[in-house]
Amino acid sequence: MSLGEFDLIATYFTRPVRRAALGIGDDCALLAPAPGMQLAVSSDMLVEGRHFLSTVAPDRLGHKALAVNLSDLAACGARPLAFTLALALPRADEIFLEGFARGLFALADAHGIELVGGDTTQGPLNLCITVMGEVPGGGALLRSGARPGDDLYVSGRVGDARLALEVFRGTVSLPGRDFEAVREAMEQPQPRVALGQALRGVASSAIDVSDGLLGDLGHILRRSGVAAEVSVDAVPRSAVLAAQPLALQRECTLAGGDDYELLFTAPAERATQVQAAAQAAGTAVTRIGRIEAGQGLRLVDAEGHAVAHTFGSFDHFRS
Ligand code: ADP
Ligand code: MG
Repeated sequence: MSLGEFDLIATYFTRPVRRAALGIGDDCALLAPAPGMQLAVSSDMLVEGRHFLSTVAPDRLGHKALAVNLSDLAACGARPLAFTLALALPRADEIFLEGFARGLFALADAHGIELVGGDTTQGPLNLCITVMGEVPGGGALLRSGARPGDDLYVSGRVGDARLALEVFRGTVSLPGRDFEAVREAMEQPQPRVALGQALRGVASSAIDVSDGLLGDLGHILRRSGVAAEVSVDAVPRSAVLAAQPLALQRECTLAGGDDYELLFTAPAERATQVQAAAQAAGTAVTRIGRIEAGQGLRLVDAEGHAVAHTFGSFDHFRS
C-alpha cells in the first residue's frame, strides 16, 4: 500500500507546535508576533539538478533546504520562528521522506523553529521553504546601509562548497578526507543565525553569500550607492582550499557561491563591537576590505596591487 498525501503529511511532517498559535491541519497556520516586532519573511526553492545533485543523502537535503532559508533570516538579523514546506515528490518514497524529515527537523530544533504548514504534490523533486522570523521594528539589517569608511567583513570561510562542486564536475581531484570536508561545506551549511542577531545595531548592512561573494557584495554596493575595495588574499578559506592553485582559490572564494556566510559592513569605530558579536555568536569574522565613496569594486592582492575583476556571479538565466 503506498502512502497517501494526508498520511504522508501526518507521518513525516506533523509535530506539535509550541510557539505558533496553530500549526498543520487547517487552511492556514496562525502566528502571534510579539508587540513591537516585525515579521521577516523569505522563500527559497531547491530544484534537483539545479541546487542539489541526485547523489545527496536525504537527511543532508532536509538540512540544506532549511539552512539556505535560515541564512536569509540571519542576513536580516531576525530570530527564526516558523516555516512552511511546499514539496513536489516523484513518489512517496518512505526512505527518502524519513531521512529528509530527520535532517530538516534536526536543524529546525537546533534553531527553535517549527514547521506550521505547507503543500504536498506529486511531480519532479522540488522543495520550497518559506521562513518567518521576528526582528525589533526598524532593527533589521538591510543591504542598503553601507557608508563610505565602513569596514567590510565576512564570517567563517568561503569557497569550499564550490571546490566540492568542482570535484563532482571532475575538474579537480582531492584525497578522500579533504573531499569529505569540502563536501560537508556544500551539503551541510551552517546558517549564521546567532551572528546575524548579534550584529543588529552593530553592522550597517548585511547579506548572505549564496551566489558568490563579489556578486553578493555588488548587491550591497548598488543598494547603498557606494564602492568597495576588497583584499582578495584576506578572504578566509580552509586549509584544503588554500592548498589549491591561487587562481582556483580566488575563483572559489570570490565567485564560488553556496557559502551561506554573512557578508556585512560596520563603521570602523565599531570594530571592537563586531569582534564581540562574533565571539558571542561563536563564529569568526574577518575584515576583507572597506567601503568607499563612488561606484564599483576594486580588488587588490596582499601587496596592494590591483587584481583584474573577471569573476562572475551565479545567475539562473545566464548559466
Ligand atoms: P489546502 O488544500 O487547504 O491547501 P492541504 O490539503 O494542501 O490544504 O494541506 C493540509 C494541511 O497540511 C494544511 O494545514 C497544510 O498547511 C499542511 N501541509 C501540506 N503539506 C505539507 C508539508 N509538506 N509540510 C507541512 N505541512 C503541510
Ligand atoms: Mg494545498
